[in-house]
Amino acid sequence: MSGDSPAALLQRHWGFDSFLPQQEEAIAAGLDGRDALVVLPTGGGKSLCYQIPALVRGQLTVVVSPLIALMKDQVDGLRDLGIAAGALNSSLSAGEQQAVFREAREGRLHLLYVAPERLLLPRMLDWLREFPPGAIAVDEAHCISSWGHDFRPEYRGLGRLRELLPGVPVQAFTATATPQVRDDIVGQLGLVEPLVLVGDFFRRNLVYNVERRGKGLNQICGVLDRHREQSGIIYAISRAKVEQISATLNQLGYLSAAYHAGMSDGERERTQNAFVNDEIETIVATVAFGMGIDKSDVRYVIHAEMPRSIEAYQQESGRAGRDGLEAECWLFHSLGDKLTWERILEHSAAEVRDLGRAHLQQVADYCNTLGCRHQFLVRHFGQESGGNCEACDACRGTAEATPEPLRVGQMILSCVHRCHEQFGVTHIVRVLTGSREARILQYGHDRLSTHGLLHGHSRPQVRDWIDQLVQQDFLAVTSGEFPVVTITPEGRRLLKGERTPALRNTVKPTEPVTPATILASWEGVDRALFEELRRLRRDWAAAVGKPPFLVFSDATLRDLARCRPVDQLHLLAVHGIGQQKAATWGWQLIDVIGRWCEQHALPVNVVSLKPARQGGMSNGPRLPGANALAAFPLFEAGLDLASIADRLSRAPSTVLGYLEQYIVARSITNARAWVDPAVIEQVEVAAESNDTGRLRPLFDALHGQISYDQIRLVLACQRNRAAVGAR
Ligand code: ADP
Repeated sequence: MSGDSPAALLQRHWGFDSFLPQQEEAIAAGLDGRDALVVLPTGGGKSLCYQIPALVRGQLTVVVSPLIALMKDQVDGLRDLGIAAGALNSSLSAGEQQAVFREAREGRLHLLYVAPERLLLPRMLDWLREFPPGAIAVDEAHCISSWGHDFRPEYRGLGRLRELLPGVPVQAFTATATPQVRDDIVGQLGLVEPLVLVGDFFRRNLVYNVERRGKGLNQICGVLDRHREQSGIIYAISRAKVEQISATLNQLGYLSAAYHAGMSDGERERTQNAFVNDEIETIVATVAFGMGIDKSDVRYVIHAEMPRSIEAYQQESGRAGRDGLEAECWLFHSLGDKLTWERILEHSAAEVRDLGRAHLQQVADYCNTLGCRHQFLVRHFGQESGGNCEACDACRGTAEATPEPLRVGQMILSCVHRCHEQFGVTHIVRVLTGSREARILQYGHDRLSTHGLLHGHSRPQVRDWIDQLVQQDFLAVTSGEFPVVTITPEGRRLLKGERTPALRNTVKPTEPVTPATILASWEGVDRALFEELRRLRRDWAAAVGKPPFLVFSDATLRDLARCRPVDQLHLLAVHGIGQQKAATWGWQLIDVIGRWCEQHALPVNVVSLKPARQGGMSNGPRLPGANALAAFPLFEAGLDLASIADRLSRAPSTVLGYLEQYIVARSITNARAWVDPAVIEQVEVAAESNDTGRLRPLFDALHGQISYDQIRLVLACQRNRAAVGAR
């Protein structure tokens, strides 16, 4: 045991001052050595749930991760936070692999990332049996289930872990929440009486919008223009479409690249790296892109065409805003999309085809819903989100219900009927809007009773209604060279007034997104300084060869530009700045921010009460840094920890974390105010012969008579003394 509390580690390494929902419960299960299945949405903070127990226990956790390409980033990211992590994969030489094994054996690694196929190699298993890890964490655990949409055969072998490594707890993590997949994960991995934690899938920092696709790329460009120099993903169905959208965007001056399974591994890796390193802003991709992409600052995900299922949509759109800041999710759809997917499904077995069609129908229902998009998405996963979300087109009132939908539906269907179900959509639209074009006159359709019935409405609006009726299965469009519109059995019931469609009016395309939550997330932020810090982040990241979002998240940059710290004390209060980050980047940040604020006459060291992450992920607003800062005057006034905890309504362990922060920030070199001088003496003497940096040996050397808390405070002061001496 390192003796550190989870809250203290969260603050010290990550610079976060509270847990996200379910994290504490998941960490507690990890500490109890209990099997668990943790289902949290993308961005819900799953990694911390296995990383913190590994640190507290001071034992190795083996992390099974499917994405070798990302392991380096994961490991680099942890090392940047001062956490001992390593990976085993084919990119390492034999010598490097030996070094990783050695480190793990000597207890110098807390986290070891391994791909599933490597974990199951006989040599690896022998090694694990000889040096059993404290726990195994299976990331992206839904890959084990053939019911899920990302089934990976190499995950199946993980089912043997239980019997191969009895006694080692297994914790599975996924963002896929359908009960069937959940049960399958538990069964396949043989989890024993697992704690099953399912988080809230309502992510209010994502603003959902759906529009019928217009001509060209105007709608897409509208979104991109609001996010110049920011990262985003555009999904399309086919490789050809992906190439075409990317090429057009580049001609228009945007920085995009295509990504699909038809490219070589090398090309894909280069593209992915360029995206992660902010060298290109937009990835245009098929569904091949994205699993495990943990770039936290994706500000928009656009579906240029319909996704194949609601589950896929949740996953893909969920890649936006992992940092908890606002992001936009757009779905642009048209009738043809469903047909394209159906064509793809034609080649599948009947069972798969039927399931695929049912999934497509759910997406069509999502497009047509007049209710809250978030509600629709979370309900699909068996949850409810109450009230107005303010974060989708329906709740923001940009999507309007069509008045008298039954009457409008009947007008359209009777026009199709009068045209003997032998004409295409364009023709029906022309008849209904009263066109007198040659083709209409030629068939005498200007004399139909339905001619001009909807003449007050635009052609795109009428076309949109027809699409909606097709998507709701009142109309069908035949395939073939000349597709014609026909009436379905459901449509006949609509004509008789037995069924009512849900129709919405076409909205002005891509309205700017400014719900109150988004405005609030920028409150107090000096935008120009934020941009300056983003630019510097790119340079700094390039200099150390790391992805910019790993150096600092957008949420951290925003908090820096809001609080503008110019000393270590205030710097440590910034969201996402722990001790290691402060030590690595502190002086550069303070220097840049100090000069900027002087030039622009801006106040510095502002104490922010704004959450750096949006709600949605948390039970209430988090006060980044401000909580710790609020405790500082109380430490100064000499209050004891229990009364400070009482006053601030914080757990004593949290206050202790603040105190450690205070000791660092104020460079306090003597713990006398909190620890008895005789105890200080004892700890310091014991520390001389136990300088491993780990608390457990020290605790043992002191015969368990002195608490971990006291030891930590004495050591923190001792470190400050050493730092003063070194200067
Ligand atoms: P997931 O794997 O569930 O998608 P991650 O573990 O990648 O999520 O975390 C998503 C983001 O949330 C990361 O940027 C991470 O640093 C941040 N995060 C995790 N836990 C917290 C926390 N307690 N407070 C604030 N941010 C957090």
